Parts: sequence; structure tokens; C-alpha cells
Amino acid sequence: MKDGYWRYYETHINCDWCGALTRGRVYKGRTDVSCGSCDKQLKELTKKEYTIKKRLREKGRLDS
Ligand SMILES: [Zn+2]
Repeated sequence: MKDGYWRYYETHINCDWCGALTRGRVYKGRTDVSCGSCDKQLKELTKKEYTIKKRLREKGRLDS
């Protein structure tokens, strides 16, 4: 099963856990940002960020 995800960062950052370059993935239905390489949690979305994400999805502005 292919999960859709939203890229959290505009630019790549280094993962705190594995050091890989990642833009941070926010998977469908999740409220945390995870590394695309090691899948560990980088941070939690704030309530405000989660609302923005939901709104964008409803408008069809997100690819995934
Ligand atoms: Zn990582």
C-alpha cells in the first residue's frame, strides 16, 4: 500500500537521527513529521499546522 504524504520543510534538512537529508514527511492521518530515510519522528505538528495541512488537502493543493 502506498501512503500519501506531505513534505513538511521547504528545503532539505539533516535528520537528527540518521543524518540523511530529508524534507520531513507527514503521512496521511498522522500528526508528526518523520524522516524519509529512517522513519523516526522529527517533530510533532502543532494544532495550527495540522489545520493548515487539512485545509490544503481539501482544496486539492496537495499532490498526496
Ligand atoms: Zn533519519
